[in-house]
Amino acid sequence: MLAMDTQATISGDRPDFSNHWMPFTANRDFHREPKMLCRAQGCHYYGERGQQILDGCSGLFTTPAGHARAEIADAVRDQLLTLDYAPSFTRGHPQSFRLASSIADLTPEGMDRIFFGNSGSEAVETALKVALAYHRARGEGGRDLFVSRERAYHGVNFGGIALSGMVPNRRAFGPAGPRVVHMRHTWLEQNRGTMGQPVHGSELADDLERLVALHGAENIAACVVEPIAGSTGVLVPPQGYLERLRELCTRYGILLIFDEVITGFGRLGHNYAAQAFGVTPDIITMAKAITNGAQPMAAVAVSREIHDTIVDAAPEGQVEFFHGYTFSAHPASCAAALATLNIYRNESLFDRARQMSAHFLERIASLQDLELVTDVRGYGLLAGVDLAPLERPGLRGHIAQKRMFDAGLHLKTTGDAAIIAPAFIMETEQIDTLIDTLRGVLVELA
Ligand code: PLP
Repeated sequence: MLAMDTQATISGDRPDFSNHWMPFTANRDFHREPKMLCRAQGCHYYGERGQQILDGCSGLFTTPAGHARAEIADAVRDQLLTLDYAPSFTRGHPQSFRLASSIADLTPEGMDRIFFGNSGSEAVETALKVALAYHRARGEGGRDLFVSRERAYHGVNFGGIALSGMVPNRRAFGPAGPRVVHMRHTWLEQNRGTMGQPVHGSELADDLERLVALHGAENIAACVVEPIAGSTGVLVPPQGYLERLRELCTRYGILLIFDEVITGFGRLGHNYAAQAFGVTPDIITMAKAITNGAQPMAAVAVSREIHDTIVDAAPEGQVEFFHGYTFSAHPASCAAALATLNIYRNESLFDRARQMSAHFLERIASLQDLELVTDVRGYGLLAGVDLAPLERPGLRGHIAQKRMFDAGLHLKTTGDAAIIAPAFIMETEQIDTLIDTLRGVLVELA
């Protein structure tokens, strides 16, 4: 029996669906069977009939402090009435500098130069351009090849889809964008059912060295990886894998870029995956949880050395890095992010995520006995559950995601993997409800 909330919108107010072309959505299917969210509070959404839906994915990995945080709403309102917009080129406003300092307090030592954008995809494009600009500034402009990985997801812009290791991205849009070569992904049969970092597979990092041997280090700008491949099913790096990538990048003068759009801001129980795994990259991308999902925003943290190399190479009075967005460091987004980082700090939410992890992963592991479940993986408050596919890849995941919504649970599925990422404020009982609901749906679907 689902809990109801009478404040939520009741159907009858249903809008005309014909004009909004929804992103990453089976639009025709949605029109037949709409899954509408009308209100959110804490760890719950409320649907059209006022039905309560447990948010098992923190929105879209965006909202670890829970929904409808008054501190963030107040900060955005105050900001809009004080300075609603400031041109981001050649003009500054105090909030962006404050925010950059707050983010620099969280990033690994020395990675304290912060560039702002509006989405994870923009952060990725920015990071690629920083890498190219850095090598050119050092007189190594031949380094324009990027190394990525199978089963990678780096957003939807042309740099991101070139990096992508997801089949639909490559089939649909072809090899546009920068030149990219791919390492193998890190999913291995021997690691099936492992929670935390798997034991097998650190040698997969040697793919980077093979690509160096094939293409020449002098042609490679950067190696881009999600420390945990999130959107393709939560592939946790094998023990020693990231360390080996770091070693090889340093040896061959290749920049190491961690795409932390999902793993940043406490998801793994530490500020960034860089700290969780003890491996420091040269560039970190982040977005999503930076404003607790309340405003669009992204950032790229760059080592001081990279920043200074690019800036010092340009003549005085000239734009040093020819890049930016109209809404880079939007004042309302900065205000939301500052309020969000205060909440994370004041409520020690990253520590809480770390403490909740053991119970969460234990409950995820318990799903392995289900007929439909072929693998489970997880780290921190992030987990992936593979479901046995139907006749077409992705169909099982699509159906499961809809049935979960009907059962009062919001989860993301990619292909046939369910991805679970609870808010850091979730109580143990809510995690239990999440897993019990998921189990119930998977039993029904078997
Ligand atoms: N990079 C990673 C690792 C992501 O997981 C995502 C989105 O899920 C992106 C980039 C793209 O972010 P956005 O959808 O904000 O453009």
